[in-house]
Amino acid sequence: MSPSVNTKLFRQLPQVEEVLHDKALTSITDVPRDIATSAVRAEVDARRQEILNGGTPELSLADIAAAAAKRVQLLTAPSLRRVVNASGVIIHTNLGRSVLAEEAVAAVNEVIVGYSTLEYDRKTMARGSRHDHCESLICTLTGAEAGIAVNNNAAAVMMVLSTFAAGHEAIVSRGEQVEIGGSFRIPEIMQQSHAHMIEVGATNKTHLSDYERALTDDTAMMLKVHPSNYRMTGFTESVSIHDLHNLAVEHEKATGKKVLVYEDQGSGAFLRLAAFGKYAEPAVAESLAAGADIVSFSGDKLLGGPQAGIIVGRADLIEKLKKSPLARALRLDKMTLAALEATLRIYLHPEKAMTRIPTVRMLVESPEEVRERACALRDIVAKNIDPDLVDLEIVEETSRAGGGALPMCDIPTYAMRMRFRKGNAQDCERYLIQESPVIVVARIHDEAILFDARTILSEEEMKAIALGIALYFDKIK
Ligand SMILES: *Cc1c(COP(=O)(O)O)cnc(C)c1O
Repeated sequence: MSPSVNTKLFRQLPQVEEVLHDKALTSITDVPRDIATSAVRAEVDARRQEILNGGTPELSLADIAAAAAKRVQLLTAPSLRRVVNASGVIIHTNLGRSVLAEEAVAAVNEVIVGYSTLEYDRKTMARGSRHDHCESLICTLTGAEAGIAVNNNAAAVMMVLSTFAAGHEAIVSRGEQVEIGGSFRIPEIMQQSHAHMIEVGATNKTHLSDYERALTDDTAMMLKVHPSNYRMTGFTESVSIHDLHNLAVEHEKATGKKVLVYEDQGSGAFLRLAAFGKYAEPAVAESLAAGADIVSFSGDKLLGGPQAGIIVGRADLIEKLKKSPLARALRLDKMTLAALEATLRIYLHPEKAMTRIPTVRMLVESPEEVRERACALRDIVAKNIDPDLVDLEIVEETSRAGGGALPMCDIPTYAMRMRFRKGNAQDCERYLIQESPVIVVARIHDEAILFDARTILSEEEMKAIALGIALYFDKIK
């Protein structure tokens, strides 16, 4: 790289002002000038840097203007967008987990368009507590003495450990030392909350006697962690909440020391869904009835509500959590509280939850009902494109609960399979995600795209899929 070449390239870099007058930028009318200016400057600077590094970037005014215009559009176009989920994964963490019930959407809307009683007690006509809105519902539905909801279940675990086990020992089975996606790892959470983790048992088997031997004067808690989407099969054994509870009772009798039994239940079902047979996960109420002092779970997994972490259990323990500074740091905002309260209220009528809460409805819907939707989708798509472009078929497939819930459970479903005579599945999948007016996420199998009807919510979504497909074929014509 000789200095003279560098200078020559530098001289070719257009002035920011010049680029701003290019049509690519003047045609974007609703953008403040300083935003356009910074975008152009960023593009020019990036090219200057590339020249300094010995590169030979494209320096034409048109190219720089187009790149700057793209920057501006990225900034002004929404990033968090609606997606049609045709993947068949019901609690899809990347796609926002649970879709809220209409009642929850209405409740959110109600409290955001005006002021609300977020921390106002109408009875005393004075300051109230935001924790009051959901607590009695949570207690009624789980049989708990008390409950509190925080930002998410990871926050709940953190709060329980640091409130009750900081500086003391917390016993956990080696079979439950799991990582739950997004860097949530039990050993790291323990460390963060200053609890001394005492691991017991082996990866595949932990016995009651393992816990028994690990109990010391310094034991604050025995923690049971739902293994989420990790499953061991075959020669395995773990200890039930019931047995841990009895062990804690005996330990207290013998030593006078209380040891808490805490279950991180993860997915947190209120209903034991018969549809899942032997895979049905224990409901929160069952855990409490079996003797857990504290149970925590997510609001947006099997429960089907907004992102939240719900902690239930003995009143004295929950009271302590409410007073913790973490309760303030991890508190829910009014939108979430409104959605959670409305979702919980639906559960007062369990049969209503089956139809009104989208996550629950999708989990329990019969394959026949799903098949009807798959057929309706095929009809709409077929109507909108040239029949010679693709082969559309309704096929039997498998949906997943997702979100770490029911990982072993194959949920029978129906999908529309689209085989390509023109274009191809990868290309069309990319188009549906990156260019289609409504983003559609499906899955590819064997050079075909599968649109799983179980997670498609409405006829409007079917039309959006059909439009995306039609536009893809227009584009490759
Ligand atoms: C999902 C899960 C968490 C984390 O819950 P979030 O609500 O996602 O924060 C923690 N523990 C278990 C067992 C889980 O399944």
